Amino acid sequence: LARNPGEAEFHQAVHEVFDSLDRVLEKHPAYVQASILERICEPERQIIFRVPWVDDAGRVQINRGFRVQYNSALGPYKGGLRFHPTVTLGTVKFLGFEQIFKNALTGMPIGGGKGGSDFDPKGRSDAEVMRFCQSFMTELSRHVGEYRDVPAGDIGVGGREIGYLFGQYKRMTNQYESGVLTGKGLTWGGSLVRTEATGYGAVFFTEHMLATKGRSFDGARVLVSGSGNVATYAIEKVHALGGLVVGASDSAGAVHDPDGIDLDLLRDIKERRRERISVYADERGRRAKFLPGASVWDIDGDEPIHVALPCATQNEISEAHAAKLVAGGLIALAEGANMPTTPGAIRVLKDAGVLFGPGKAANAGGVATSALEMQQNASRDSWSFEHTEERLSEIMAGIHERTATTADEYGAPGDYVVGANIAGFIRVADAMLALGVI
Ligand code: NDP
Repeated sequence: LARNPGEAEFHQAVHEVFDSLDRVLEKHPAYVQASILERICEPERQIIFRVPWVDDAGRVQINRGFRVQYNSALGPYKGGLRFHPTVTLGTVKFLGFEQIFKNALTGMPIGGGKGGSDFDPKGRSDAEVMRFCQSFMTELSRHVGEYRDVPAGDIGVGGREIGYLFGQYKRMTNQYESGVLTGKGLTWGGSLVRTEATGYGAVFFTEHMLATKGRSFDGARVLVSGSGNVATYAIEKVHALGGLVVGASDSAGAVHDPDGIDLDLLRDIKERRRERISVYADERGRRAKFLPGASVWDIDGDEPIHVALPCATQNEISEAHAAKLVAGGLIALAEGANMPTTPGAIRVLKDAGVLFGPGKAANAGGVATSALEMQQNASRDSWSFEHTEERLSEIMAGIHERTATTADEYGAPGDYVVGANIAGFIRVADAMLALGVI
């Protein structure tokens, strides 16, 4: 705490992992001897930089850029960039810390890192976003590379931003190093299924959790928070599997649509027109309602909600939200977002016997497919949608299996938090031991 003052989200993420580790340290004293816990908390490198850019009115704007290169024991640093006005060093550190264990859980050769800026792309023109991205990459280019650090998207960073960032990197280095970023467009080195991967992956993970109780998405009523990249494709996959998503949101409010979210309309509004979700209720008509300022977890419907998929942001589900979901018949919750469930809410869900899939496991499909994009770039190949989705599906099955088995092995059957934390930790800790004191 004294070493990292004022970084509440980072402290929360560290506590959540360390709470699971007592039983590991008892079995593996070598980790204690080598101070693995102390080392794993301290990023290998933290870069903070000024990002000057010129807005459409000709005024110079200044933002702050971050890249935290957390742990490279398993491979090059890998993790997204977040552009959102709330981003601080503490946010990036919490996300980077989570990323170490998530990446380890995928079983792929990728280390953990994260970055971003307090830049707010909302309301900015394409030209402004481009100038910001070019300035951001001008500094970031010194620290990234196919074998060093491979960023991707996160909140506020989608295909448009990755394009501008990659274009600037290409210009500065005078080489076409496809493997430096993932989430690229399909005609310039991207992978099919990367856009869909986090949302699809979270739904695949939930399917496996539901199966342990003899349940499935067929006929399930579902709430999804957010309406960005992860939320969109989670909704698509839930509908494909026979479930019905009856709520979605953005930072201005939530939409309740008891007849099921019309995904084509939602995508048209959010992806193409870049408008607010309030427009959805107006254009959808029927029984759809917009609840200004509300979260999706505030929706009061008459029918039960079986599955909750938080896909917006951290700490969005309070203890009271969790209690309400439990009373409404919740069977499973899987985190499409990073750390969306507060510690109090997790306790409520676990006490009620709700299946709880932590983000490290449930949303790892995005980074895993980024690793597949890196494989395709390295071999100058591009795989079909079906093949790549099949790989994603196998990876999510593997993560579920690894997580569930580890939880059993360490005396916490059904506890996916314990399973994910321990399975991820052991893989990284063993590599750190093997590489010596570095
Ligand atoms: P997007 O920017 O595409 O979408 C984010 C969505 O969440 C938007 O609807 C946004 O609303 C809403 N949102 C963001 N911040 C807040 C807030 N403070 N309060 C309420 N709503 C908010 O991001 P992604 O879909 O990529 O990311 C969503 C989550 O998933 C994040 O936690 C991210 O870390 C995590 N994640 C993403 C991965 C990926 O592959 N993209 C991989 C793994 C995890 P608005 O438009 O109004 O801001």
